[in-house]
Amino acid sequence: MVEKFQNIIGGTHKESLSKETFEKSNPANISESLGKFPKSSKRDLNLAVEMAVDAFPNWKNTPAPKRAEILWRAASITIQRKEELSQILCKETGKPITEARGEIQEVIDTYLFFAGEGRRIYGITGQSELPNKSITTIRQPIGISGMITAWNFPAAVPSWKVAPALISGNCVIVKPSHQAPLSGYHLIKILYESGLPQGVASLLFGDGSLGEAISEHPDIKVVSITGSVEVGRKVYETCGRLLKKCALELGGKNAIVVLDDANPELAIDGILWGAFGTAGQRCTSTSRLIIQKSRWSHNFIQELSKKVQRLQIGNGFKEHTQVGPLISASHRELVHGFVQRAVKEGASVLTGGKHLSEGEHSKGYFYEPTILTGVTPNMEIAKTEAFGPVLSVIEVADFQEALKVANGVEYGLSLSVYTRDINLAMQASQEFEAGIVYINAPTIGAECGGAAAFGGWKNTGNGSREGGVLALDTYTQYKTIYTDYSDKLQKAQID
Ligand code: NAD
Repeated sequence: MVEKFQNIIGGTHKESLSKETFEKSNPANISESLGKFPKSSKRDLNLAVEMAVDAFPNWKNTPAPKRAEILWRAASITIQRKEELSQILCKETGKPITEARGEIQEVIDTYLFFAGEGRRIYGITGQSELPNKSITTIRQPIGISGMITAWNFPAAVPSWKVAPALISGNCVIVKPSHQAPLSGYHLIKILYESGLPQGVASLLFGDGSLGEAISEHPDIKVVSITGSVEVGRKVYETCGRLLKKCALELGGKNAIVVLDDANPELAIDGILWGAFGTAGQRCTSTSRLIIQKSRWSHNFIQELSKKVQRLQIGNGFKEHTQVGPLISASHRELVHGFVQRAVKEGASVLTGGKHLSEGEHSKGYFYEPTILTGVTPNMEIAKTEAFGPVLSVIEVADFQEALKVANGVEYGLSLSVYTRDINLAMQASQEFEAGIVYINAPTIGAECGGAAAFGGWKNTGNGSREGGVLALDTYTQYKTIYTDYSDKLQKAQID
């Protein structure tokens, strides 16, 4: 029996007015269905927005420490159900169960962090030019936030948006990707089980057309999207036309730079995890290895290739699986197309480069972890995000060339350098054009917390950040309050 899901409109489960549905299956075993989901319509969206408009005045006036209690409870329920939610996530995305557990832990950490923020949400207190006068700038919620998310982190990414939005007093309308709709659904359900007042959050299912309707809706005052550069650009254009606040968390073309004094074993471990974890389907995945030619660089690449061939590829439910499937048949074709065009442009396949379709692998969308050598910085594969388990090796002569190649793409999410030279490490951290930099660690693995700020430069984003305290900037607007207690007219800049 295929389970049927409904929209969560303001806390109540409701059939979609469209009556249309879509089905989602496990990419590691496509005969296993996760359920039937409604294709939500604009009318469903209008209902959700109407409920949010009604709920907003009370919610924004609820003290933030009280709002925080709901996030604490949501964290506690998520802790209790961690294994069940991890299994749903594993089935939904195909990612290995160990990674799925890590992602649910990220949801818990995010809730706990932003619950703590409920006792801060700091503003600024300044000094007036005049006596008996004070100036404070406070943060206030914006109103109704629309959240459009990608399929690769269908639990963590919605939590990165929902938690800061709710703690600062906004209502939220979430649209997960139709390719991974279930984890987001459970997230919103748990928030209501934790005491979220009716109307404050809604979850609708659908594809890009629903995303467009969210961006266009006049009562949705801020839109946060995680997705590709192409889609982010469209959403930004809409928000620009409507003068709406917009947060963009988009793609990456991340690189690990390995210098000739690096610890090679450490670098190999980092590359294996960075490039092939989540089957290369992370916005921060390492898709370029920029390696300084040295006495050992050739052997290093051969050794890396041997280890890639030993990666365990399969259904994420097996505890030893290291690489799961790609999310869909069309995505696998897209990734393969990148590999084929790279070869036409002159790259060589050192390992991988093919669909995996024998035995257990015939059940899903598996693709061999792939290393391409002989890649040059101008090739398509060196410049464009393929979003799969494909690592391009680019050889360089020295540190300066490595920096130039690392920065020579239109994305700016995550860059890493492996070196034991503190001076070069510090110079790289200053010169890398990216929102996130790692020293002697791979490009993936961002944390949540006060100092953590997740987001990218250049085409990866428009300055917004997630995961830490700076996420509040997306969901709050500033108000400056002058209080004159002198009991007389005081003229700024004149008296
Ligand atoms: P996508 O751009 O195809 O879709 C993202 C979301 O946008 C989905 O919910 C989709 O339904 C919706 N959408 C599609 N067209 C739309 C439109 N015209 N208007 C509004 N919404 C629309 O991306 P994807 O394939 O789901 O995810 C992969 C991409 O996401 C990769 O590029 C990856 O790098 C990026 N990503 C970025 C981050 C980050 O934080 N920087 C995190 C995860 C994934």
